[in-house]
Amino acid sequence: MSHDPLSTSAGRSRVVIIGAGFGGIAAAAALLKAGYDDVVILERAESIGGVWRDNTYPGCACDVPAPLYSYSFAPNPAWSSRFPAHDEILAYLRDVASSLGVTAHVRLNTSVTAATWTDSHWRVETANGDTYEADVLIPAVGQLGTPVLPAIPGAFDGPAVHTARWNNDLPVDGARIAVIGTGASAVQLVPAIAGRAAHVTVFQRTPPWTLPRPNRRYGAGRHLVYGRWPFLMALPRAGVWALTVVNGHAITGGRLAGAFVRTVSRVQRRLQVRDAALRDRVTPDEPMGCKRVLFTADWLPALSRPDVSLVTDKILELTTDGVRTTDGTVHPCDLLVYATGFAATDFLAGIRISGRDGVTLAEEWRDGAYAHLGMTVPGFPNLFLVYGPNTNTGNTSVLYFLEHQAAYIVQAVRHLEDRKTPLTVCRKVADAYDDEMQQRLSRSVWTSCQSWYRNTAGRVVTNWPGLASEYRRRVARMEPSDYEPT
Ligand code: NAP
Repeated sequence: MSHDPLSTSAGRSRVVIIGAGFGGIAAAAALLKAGYDDVVILERAESIGGVWRDNTYPGCACDVPAPLYSYSFAPNPAWSSRFPAHDEILAYLRDVASSLGVTAHVRLNTSVTAATWTDSHWRVETANGDTYEADVLIPAVGQLGTPVLPAIPGAFDGPAVHTARWNNDLPVDGARIAVIGTGASAVQLVPAIAGRAAHVTVFQRTPPWTLPRPNRRYGAGRHLVYGRWPFLMALPRAGVWALTVVNGHAITGGRLAGAFVRTVSRVQRRLQVRDAALRDRVTPDEPMGCKRVLFTADWLPALSRPDVSLVTDKILELTTDGVRTTDGTVHPCDLLVYATGFAATDFLAGIRISGRDGVTLAEEWRDGAYAHLGMTVPGFPNLFLVYGPNTNTGNTSVLYFLEHQAAYIVQAVRHLEDRKTPLTVCRKVADAYDDEMQQRLSRSVWTSCQSWYRNTAGRVVTNWPGLASEYRRRVARMEPSDYEPT
């Protein structure tokens, strides 16, 4: 079967991928490499890039070192540093997409509103009225695309922005800035605006666990050597991998690794926060790892600055000119920043996906999202999720998971070619897998606090319970017997 996805704006293709971020591009690259060129990627925004297009706040970068936060099939000898900024990561992703021929398959400004299984294929509808048809549907919309604004009573008269909607016209220099939240986004933003702003007030509900982020610039010598002998880049990648394994053991229950990582965090606080009272307020009281551990060199020093205040009283309301806390104090500001995270547990919430018998994914997931190997759902033939339920990692590069999902999906597409009938995961296989996930997760650190890893009922729906290497083993071979017989 050969379709030409480029000949019309809409039409029939073998595969439709939703989303052109790291996940969608990994899936497309793997399919193209395997010889499947009738692939269309529908992207709602006006450019590709996913979270690296959306997040442009000052200080935005990846806290996973670049040698590991890059595709294994596209190592980059030119990284400028170990933890490059968001624009460099975005440029890398766009370069990879372009050099592997993926960009030509992307339809920009095409927001998918619904996808319906029609007994033999998927019919995909978009906001601009186009309809696409495909044998296989791959939603790759990520988990961190929908910002959350907390419902705080009152109204602020000045500009207010979520970190993922930052724009360069916002008043920063010389302004009084209030930042709500102390997660991964805030710990990057605050040090970057402290010193530029007249004053930064940080509202902390829960002190996060932090670890050092030893950044270093990569010089011309390194660029030359890795450019000439790219295979050598496997060495720093392996080194970073080894550290993420220690971190993984620490978070998934390893006693020695846990004690080691907690000690490093304590030493960091001791060295970076001289004021004992402040140190007390930034000392975490939740178990390490129940929320994402944050890698940072400059968060604690920023909180120690005279032009930065840490407020730990609860927010009561917004006032026209600032934020009032429960002690009655109004903290005035000129700019209000919500570093308050994303609706990660509402997988695919904006798209109505209807499977066999008209059942929607939202109905199938009413008790929380789940998927066999994070990819397939009973009753939804030829649907393969990328970065789906229980495939997030708090300790290593999520790209590792995305690549292995892409490889699995290529096997499935190949299998479909031979078998000619749709692939639908058996309910009992998916149920058994989900039971295993939830049993393991119920004993994990993630049930010890509320975070974006858990839905409102408390079910951990985002995270993978083990080490990344286990996930790789589990998805290495697509098992035809996991799918309904023809
Ligand atoms: P987040 O981790 O969900 O943090 C949200 C913060 O807002 C938390 O500190 C939370 O406090 C606080 N908050 C929420 N509602 C509040 C309210 N009503 N009053 C006061 N505080 C409130 O969000 P994020 O920092 O944007 O990070 C989300 C994820 O994005 C990260 O976990 C990570 O996976 C990814 N990310 C990665 C990087 C990277 O370098 N790789 C950088 C940025 C983001 P509580 O803790 O008390 O809930």
